[in-house]
Formats: sequence, structure tokens, C-alpha cells
Amino acid sequence: MAEIIVAGAGIVGISTAIWLQRAGHTVTIVDREGPAAGTSYGNAGVLASGAIVPVTTPDLWRKAPAMVMNKNSPLFLRWSYLPKMLPFLWKFLRHATDAHVTGFATTMAGLLHDSVDQHRALAAGTGAEEFITDEDFCFGYPTRESFEADAYGWKIRQDNGVIFEVQSGAQFATYDPLYAERFGIVVRCKNHGRISDPGAYVQALARHFKEEGGRLVIATVTDVIRDGSGLRGFVTDAGELRGDHAVLALGAWSKPLGRKMGLEIPLESERGYHIELVNPSHMPIAPMMVAAGKFVITPMTDRIRCAGVVEFGGSTKAPSAAPFNLLKRHIGEIFPDLSYDRMDEWMGHRPSTPDSLPLIGACDDSNTTYAALGHQHVGLTAGPKTGRIIADLISGRTPNMDLSPFSPTRYR
Ligand SMILES: Cc1cc2nc3c(=O)[nH]c(=O)nc-3n(C[C@H](O)[C@H](O)[C@H](O)COP(=O)(O)OP(=O)(O)OC[C@H]3O[C@@H](n4cnc5c(N)ncnc54)[C@H](O)[C@@H]3O)c2cc1C
Repeated sequence: MAEIIVAGAGIVGISTAIWLQRAGHTVTIVDREGPAAGTSYGNAGVLASGAIVPVTTPDLWRKAPAMVMNKNSPLFLRWSYLPKMLPFLWKFLRHATDAHVTGFATTMAGLLHDSVDQHRALAAGTGAEEFITDEDFCFGYPTRESFEADAYGWKIRQDNGVIFEVQSGAQFATYDPLYAERFGIVVRCKNHGRISDPGAYVQALARHFKEEGGRLVIATVTDVIRDGSGLRGFVTDAGELRGDHAVLALGAWSKPLGRKMGLEIPLESERGYHIELVNPSHMPIAPMMVAAGKFVITPMTDRIRCAGVVEFGGSTKAPSAAPFNLLKRHIGEIFPDLSYDRMDEWMGHRPSTPDSLPLIGACDDSNTTYAALGHQHVGLTAGPKTGRIIADLISGRTPNMDLSPFSPTRYR
């Protein structure tokens, strides 16, 4: 059995650590702040098994310029950051083709289709099971025309086995009256799930990891340790962490360490925002993607979380006001009569690659170093399976799926 150092205590790092621990390895996790301090805290909580359509659909070339100029659009750009991100943007937009979308969908369907089962398997016996529920993931459209304008994405989901039911807004309101007269059409995706508090869920998993003998170190990773046969761990601001294998799972912050591991990852942050309505007078039943605003309204333990939109602006700058204002305008229109105790705001960083595919696998032939990162909009959904794959690879087992599209070395 081996000694393994996992860098990053988000859903991806914690899942990897638990599956490695279950395989009998000795595991240390290192994170600069602790479990769920990053993007895994504030996401929309949807186990989005059917999220197999990338942002880079073929019409993005046509739509993007107008979207970034329109303050009511859910796509934002920090103009001062544009020169820095032009190389990424160019590569990203080049994937906005039919051929890429079709291949991406098939690949991601393989990773995501059983995500609720994967979460249940990960959480079994940890105390984190209570956060997982089976639920439809709903998409609300103002009109039939706006639903039909999204036909491209729905056809791709259908072709890849995503099961959904299209209802009128009135029909849907018999299921969830909170949305009465809000939408003309609601699409209900089946076999989806929800995490009722993503931060608390990851923290519960981390607690279990420690109770089972895992070590959690709070420190910032600054460098890698190499010897003649490969990578042996990480240098941190609190000393060296050495092992037989090292796993990079630092989410949107993985790029500098990736470079030291020999990977040139064109990783960018797709910044996302949430506002929360704490102790609301009413609670919706299931997560609802507001298609016009590209954000999700999710019932959480004691709050409604409204999370989404995309802003390109790097991983170091403070949040912008405009995305919060847009979310607030939408919420005011959708829930005009809702009262709540307080509104909380948060911004996080989706780790995104130009082809929107995560990096999952060995970083070189030495089999000492692995990447588990770049899960863009679906890291919560895909974290447990990613962790299982990495644990299988390190344990010498062959995962039952084609991992070549996720190869960490594909950008060399
Ligand atoms: C608004 C929004 C809504 C979303 N909704 C969903 C959703 O509904 N469903 C879904 O599946 N996904 C969703 N996502 C995406 C999902 O949250 C991410 O893909 C996922 O959380 C990424 O997890 P991670 O473990 O890779 O990274 P993170 O959770 O970001 O973890 C990275 C960790 O690395 C640590 N770290 C960084 N640098 C260092 C360093 N140098 N040394 C030590 N530690 C370091 C950080 O402290 C952090 O804990 C959403 C994202 C956003 C922003």
C-alpha cells in the first residue's frame, strides 16, 4: 500500500482521498484553508447528470459579442482582464463547433450519467448521506419560442440518453406552486439529484476521512518535490509533504503547480456568483435553471441559493457588482412576494479548460503524479467518480471507461 498526498480539499480532492483510503492507502490532504473553502462551497448543489452541453455551442461566436455588451445578459467580461485571457479565449471559441459538442456530450455522458449513485457510494457510512436527495433538475423558459430556441441542446441531451419531460408552466405549478405563472414551459430532467448544502457535505466527508485515520494539513502548496523516479510530494509553506504518489486537485488554482509538474494547462476561471435568501417565507421543491438568466434556484437547508452566470475575469480579482445586480433583478421578478431574513453574496471559480473537459489521470509515465481538475460547471456532479478513477489508477486497477479524452497531457 502506498503513501499519497492530495493537494486540494474541494469535492474532487476529498472524493479522491476517501476512495484512496478505502483502497487501503495512507492519505494526506493539504489545503490552504480547509475543506470546501473554494468553489465546492458555493455551487448550485445540482447533481447534473445531464449537463453534457458545453458553453461552447456553435452559435457562441454569433451570440457572445452582443452578450458581453448587454447588462441583462448572464455572460460578463472584466475588460481589464481581456488581454491576459485572449489566448485562452481563442482556444475556447475554437471548440464552438458541432463536431466538438457532439464528442464532448458523449464523453461527458460517460462521466456524469450515474452521478447520483456515485455520490451515494462515496457518502455511504460517512454521515454525509443526509445531504443527498433524488430530484428532477428543472429548466424554466418564459415562452415556448424560447424553449424551442434551445432545441439544439435538448436534442443532444436526448441523443445521449438524458430523460426529460416537457410541461406547460401551468402543469408544473401543480407540482411547485411557488412558480405559478412564472414560466411558459418547464423541462424536468429525470435521474438527477441535489446536495442540500454543498459546503457542509464536503466538510462531513472530510470529517469522515479524518476519523478513518486520514491526515488533513492546512498549508499553501508552493512547489513539487522530485527525485530520480518521479514526483514525490509537495513543498508547502509549512514544510514538505512526501509520499509515493501526488494528486493535483487545486481546482481553478492548479495552473502554476501543474506547470511545475510538467503540464501546460490552459486553465481559466469561469467566475460564478450566488446570492442566498436566508430563512425564506417559502421554499421551492426542486432545483430550477432559469434559462433566460443562466442561473439555478436551489432549495438548500435553510435558504434558497440562486447560483450561476459566467464572468471571465481571472482567479485573483474581487467580485464584480454587475452579476450580483443581475441575479437580484431576476429574483425580484420571479419571487416578488417572498420575504427572508437576509441576503448573502458569494463568488467562486469554475476551473475551465478550452475543450471544457476535465483532466483526469496520470501526468507522465512515472505513475507517481496525477491530475484531477478542470471540471468547469460540473465538479460537484463529477467529483466522486473522478476520485474513484484516480484511486483505481493508483491502485493498479483499470477503470471501466475510456479516459483518453481526459488525458492531462493533451495540451503538451
Ligand atoms: C456559481 C456556481 C455554481 C455551480 N453549480 C454547480 C452545480 O450545481 N453542480 C456541479 O456539479 N457543479 C457546479 N459548479 C462547479 C463546481 O462547484 C466546481 O466544478 C467544483 O466545486 C470544483 O471542485 P474542485 O475540488 O476541483 O475545486 P475547489 O472546490 O475550488 O477546491 C480547490 C481547493 O484548492 C485549495 N487551494 C487552492 N490553491 C491552493 C494552494 N496553492 N495550496 C493549497 N490549497 C490550495 C482551495 O483552498 C480549495 O479548497 C458551480 C460553480 C459555480 C461557481
